[in-house]
Parts: sequence; structure tokens; C-alpha cells
Amino acid sequence: MSQAPVAASSLAAQIDTAAHAIEARLIAWRRDFHAHPELGNREFRTAGIVADHLRALGLDEVRTGVAHTGVVGLLKGALPGPVVALRADMDALPVAEEVDLPFASKVKADWNGAQVGVMHACGHDTHTAILMATAEVLASQRAGLRGSVKFIFQPAEELPPEGEDGGAKMMIEEGAMADPKPDAIFGLHVTSRLPINVVGYRPGPTMASADNLKITVHGSQTHGAMPWAGVDPIVVSAQVVLGLQTVISRQTDLTKEPAVLTIGTIHGGLRENIIPDSVEMRGTIRTFDEEMRDDIHERVTYLAQAIARGSRAGCTVCIKKNYPVTVNDPALTDAMLPTLARVAGPGRLVLVPKVTGSEDFSFFQQVVPGLFIFIGVTPEDKDPSKVAPNHSPRFYVDERCLVTGVRALAHLAVDFLERSVA
Ligand SMILES: [Zn+2]
Ligand SMILES: [Zn+2]
Repeated sequence: MSQAPVAASSLAAQIDTAAHAIEARLIAWRRDFHAHPELGNREFRTAGIVADHLRALGLDEVRTGVAHTGVVGLLKGALPGPVVALRADMDALPVAEEVDLPFASKVKADWNGAQVGVMHACGHDTHTAILMATAEVLASQRAGLRGSVKFIFQPAEELPPEGEDGGAKMMIEEGAMADPKPDAIFGLHVTSRLPINVVGYRPGPTMASADNLKITVHGSQTHGAMPWAGVDPIVVSAQVVLGLQTVISRQTDLTKEPAVLTIGTIHGGLRENIIPDSVEMRGTIRTFDEEMRDDIHERVTYLAQAIARGSRAGCTVCIKKNYPVTVNDPALTDAMLPTLARVAGPGRLVLVPKVTGSEDFSFFQQVVPGLFIFIGVTPEDKDPSKVAPNHSPRFYVDERCLVTGVRALAHLAVDFLERSVA
């Protein structure tokens, strides 16, 4: 045990050297993925490159086809110890790229029946390249490595196409977190909201749950001049839209955690003088607490139906649970803070606010303690609050984040493994 700090620090230095040495290839991988983005459950080319790379590194196991296109690699260190998992997502978005880059995406693909531009507008190209490089860096240190590292390359983080399953939940169902089961999992996301190479973290609830809401108000079609002859679902829908905001503002204890309810679409009717039979609305519900999540769902359903009943309309409420709350295990976060501080450098590790976006990394965190961190990608001369955010066609990544990403994942993995046996 007295030898561990010396061994650990020399391993740390070797990781940093190896991470810097791989930078040119890391950038080349990222640019290749960026120029060839693939949508959720269609990451065939990306997954093939990942699997070939892991096999070339001589990993002990490489599983492909996990949750359609996922790849899981296992690296066994020469010394006994626990198991840690590192995760990257591989999918791109239906966004037509507007960034002026020599490797900008010109790819088009089918998405739920429409031809769309495809772009790595959430930066998952960087995540995939970072984890490939991390695997290479850690494989080069196998002789001094305690325990095992599992590399999880995940499809469809941005939800699979309609009617398909996929993503983290399906990878877990197909055994990605078993044989061996990791003791912890780490993941990262690049973000425009932080300056280049600033590392962001947050213990506890960090990203929101995200659930789909679909409400259909059933009225009775009639002449627009004679509303009393039917039931008007448009006026009822207006009452429902306003009423649902009171679930958040009047019925939810916002001192505990914030919550958001948004109605994003509302469709009904064909012409000005016909009151239609029905109106359909779709929305999203975001929470930071699983109990509040269920409570809000129950209240939304009850209130929408009660409002409709007041006008003798019918109301069908359908809430589809997508991603749970991303909760960083407080003890694990605390334990890894020195590692993050060392990777980030003085003054460059920051506690970030909660994010109302969601992540299916949360499913992995339901299996084992996990920590999901953020790495800034906005150049120093730009204001992170004003640049195009993730998911924008103008989302831009300063590639100096890549080595930081590799160092973050590699050091988190090694320090966790060393710490667990110390
Ligand atoms: Zn995204
Ligand atoms: Zn993302």
C-alpha cells in the first residue's frame, strides 16, 4: 500500500504523455466521424471503426452489435483490482450543418420518413474519438494497471427513430453492465456553455428527467357559428395549456427541485368555421427528482382530464417516460474531485448549475454509482453564453478539448481503480 502513491503518480505521468502523443490521430478520428455522422441506431460505420480499433489494441474482449450498433470492450490490467466503465455515445442529430469547416458534414439521411441533414451537433463525434484514444492510452499502460476497464460505445443517445428501441437502456438489457459488472461508471459531455478545457461537475441531480406528454382533447364537431351544438376542443385545449402551468407553479414544491412543463405542439381543426372533433398537444416534462417526476405526471393527468370534464369533453393523457434524472453519486463525485482538479488545472474546475437537458447516461447510474462531467469547447475569445449551443447547426468545437477529455477519462478510471484497492 505504501508503494501505491508512487506507482500511481508515475502511471499518471505516463497517461499524460500518452494522451498528448495521440493528439494528431485523435483529431483525425474526430474529423472523420464529424464528416461521416450517423443517426441513432444507424452508427454502422462509426461502430465498425471503433470495433476494429479496440481489436487492434488487443483488448481482452470486444462485443459488437449490443443494442443494434453498440460496442463494448474490456481491458484487463496486469494487476488484480475492481472494474470501472467508461462510456461514450456515437450518434449524430438530424441537423444540417452550417459551420464552415473543411470536414463539415454534407450527409443526408432518412429520419422518421423525412430526408434530413445529419450533423454531430451534440459533439458525440468528440466523445467517440476521446474514448478510442483513452482505450489506446490505457492499453499502453496495461502492465501497471489494476483491475479492468470496460469501454462502452453507445448508440442512439438522442433517442432511436420512432418505433425502435435503443440507447443505454437497451445496452444494459443486453448485458453491457454485466460480465463483469463495473463498480463505477464515468462519462463526459462537451459543452458550448463552458470555455475551452474548463471542466464542469455537479454532485447529485445534474441533468433532468425527460418525458413525452401527449394530450388529446375529444370534443364534438359542429359549425363554427353554433358552438352550443357540439363540444369545442380548442377552447378546452387552451384551458388545459394554461392549467397545466399551475401544476408546476402552484402544486409543485419548487424549493426542493425545479421542474419544467412545456407544450411544444398543438394541432386541431381544418378551417375557420368548423369546430373540430379533437385537438392533439405534445409536450415535455423535466424534473430533477424521481418522486416529483411521478407526482407531476399524476397531477398533469388528473388536471387535464378534470378541465376537459368541466366542459363535457373527453381527454386522453399519455406520458411516455424517456430518460431518468442524471444523478452523480455524491460520494463518488467527492472522491474524484482531486482527480478532476488535477486534470483541469488551477481555477479550471467549476461547479456547474443543473441542466434541464437530459442524458440516458442516467440508466447506467441506476445500475452502479456514476459520474458525468462536462468539458468546455468554446474558444477563449468567444462568450459561452452567446455562442451557438449544442444541437445548433452552428455548434462549434475547439479541438483542444480532445486531449483534456482523454486525460479526464483515463485519470478517472486509473484513480478509481487505485483508490479502490488502496
Ligand atoms: Zn444532444
Ligand atoms: Zn449529447
